Amino acid sequence: MLVNLQIATEKLKKGEVVGIPTETVYGLAATIYKEDALKKIFQTKKRPNFDPLIIHISNLDQLEDIFLEVTPAMKILMERFWPGPLTLISKKKETISSLITAELDTVAVRMPDHEKTLKIINKVGPVAAPSANMFKKTSPTRAKHVLENFEHKVSVYDGGDCDVGIESTIIELSGNKIYLYRKGKITKENLQTSLPGFTIEEKTSPAAPGQMKDHYQPNKPLYIFNSIEEKNNFSEHGIELTLTQDSGLSARMLYKNLIDLSQGPVEFIYFIRSKYPKDELWEAIYERLEKASSQVP
Ligand code: AMP
Ligand code: MG
Repeated sequence: MLVNLQIATEKLKKGEVVGIPTETVYGLAATIYKEDALKKIFQTKKRPNFDPLIIHISNLDQLEDIFLEVTPAMKILMERFWPGPLTLISKKKETISSLITAELDTVAVRMPDHEKTLKIINKVGPVAAPSANMFKKTSPTRAKHVLENFEHKVSVYDGGDCDVGIESTIIELSGNKIYLYRKGKITKENLQTSLPGFTIEEKTSPAAPGQMKDHYQPNKPLYIFNSIEEKNNFSEHGIELTLTQDSGLSARMLYKNLIDLSQGPVEFIYFIRSKYPKDELWEAIYERLEKASSQVP
């Protein structure tokens, strides 16, 4: 059911889960202060406990209870990219529930760039919020997707369509290294410009969640072909997932188009890679597409 801002806030305070908009994708939020509420996230999504959650904050003071330390380099990134689609991982305070961190001694945090959600978090305090989809399925970018994902059993605050459309960039700083766990709208170039003395290394997350090979799955098989010829040799059937030459716009359309196509009467969806450019945001898009297509033979 759709709820207004006040009801969304009350439900979160009471320990219920609520679908909330962010600029990346919709999240399934719960207060970080109630174990029962956090458990509901995992139960609702059928998400395994080894997949840690990202905490969403609305002001920097809230970090006091979350991170053990904020280094000058972390501060630079926060000032430059928050609110925005960058998640920072760092050592956690002992009081942070191990449900959030999957028993790791680090925790992931970001400040979402969505005015209404920042208001909600201001009233409720920090919330843990993974994407509001069943585990391994396509992430939602509009309120309707969230209602459908959980068969209308979860309350959702409708904050419009997500602007970025793919999940946040995830990084961890260590010494003069930036470990990049997940690609997103904040690119390596953006990070390098902000911290010129650092080197960037791509890494898989220890608990490997959004890192899992099969993720973002639509309800129909997705095939990726390098060229139209390759597709035609495979089959004359299927429906094409088309994006645009603009990476920002394509990221915004990606999940919505995948969801729309998979609800139609088609055997399979296909994507022709050679039609599109190769900049850094495209790399992030391709990463999602590859995982979304990983179950086809
Ligand atoms: P999402 O499901 O989009 O909310 O993404 C959460 C992802 O953040 C997880 O699947 C992990 O890949 C990553 N993550 C969260 N916490 C940590 C952590 N402490 N260390 C490494 N990766 C993390
Ligand atoms: Mg997710």
